[in-house]
Amino acid sequence: MPSAKVLKNGQYIELGSYQYWPVLVPRGIRLYTYEQVPGFLRENPYITDGYRAYLTSRLCIKSLFILSNETVNIWSHLLGFFLFFILGVYDLLAVLPMLGASREDYVIYSISLFCFQVCMLCSVGYHLFCCHRSEKTSRRWMALDYAGISIGIIGCYVPGVFYAFYCNNYWRQVYLVTVLAMMLAVFFAQIHPHYLTKKWQKLRSVIFCAVAGYGLIPTFHWIWLSGGFSSDIVQEFVPRVLIMYVLAVAAIIFYMSKVPERYFPGQLNYLGSSHQVWHILVVLMFYWWHQSALFITSYRHSHPCPDYPLHS
Ligand SMILES: [Zn+2]
Repeated sequence: MPSAKVLKNGQYIELGSYQYWPVLVPRGIRLYTYEQVPGFLRENPYITDGYRAYLTSRLCIKSLFILSNETVNIWSHLLGFFLFFILGVYDLLAVLPMLGASREDYVIYSISLFCFQVCMLCSVGYHLFCCHRSEKTSRRWMALDYAGISIGIIGCYVPGVFYAFYCNNYWRQVYLVTVLAMMLAVFFAQIHPHYLTKKWQKLRSVIFCAVAGYGLIPTFHWIWLSGGFSSDIVQEFVPRVLIMYVLAVAAIIFYMSKVPERYFPGQLNYLGSSHQVWHILVVLMFYWWHQSALFITSYRHSHPCPDYPLHS
């Protein structure tokens, strides 16, 4: 098997010249070039150096404190996790009581922020442990990272659907059930053994775009049910949905195109690569959606539902 050969090669290289960050690097961790790492770590040829590889779990955790090409990826979502954790505590203790929230509001906010936190932690786990010496372990963390993105998307859909269809129980249930069914289907696709292979790369992007694009259906339905573009709530809330989609499209474009490192190969190994931009845009998206949810929650609590039922 080629990976075993590379592993041998890697162990041989380890005896060779040392190149590491001298201040905080724990013993036993060194950085490799793109050519030196095993095949499963070669995802982006424009990141030429700064790879961790062949590490045990303990050394993976230790590598949290060294400068490698994954440092920004790990820390951006670790800080993202703390952001959504603090936001969650603050919402439950201060913001929601101030809005006169019902028990349902508490449940929706808890689900949404919990999903964001899980998404962040799965991503931290993958970027921390992708350099594990076992390819199987690395792949498992990668699958978890993908599952985490789906969970994060659920965290966006749940409050979106819940508050958009606040006055229409029927459609609220229809969309919540279809979103959960769709995410369940995606989840089963993700645990398929072929899902992470290069052959399915296009399909992964298509599934991701479909899951994000599906949101347009409840959005347009909601606009129609709310009385079209001229109604107050639509005028206030649609720009927020648009900004959400602009962030999402930008995030996907960076993720898939490997811009800007494609134009500066080897120069953005540590800072400024597309995956780092993707990470930051994901945090921004979740934060933006959380703020928008607060906005529509306070609107719903100050504008009671109309007496007449808003039927299809
Ligand atoms: Zn990532």
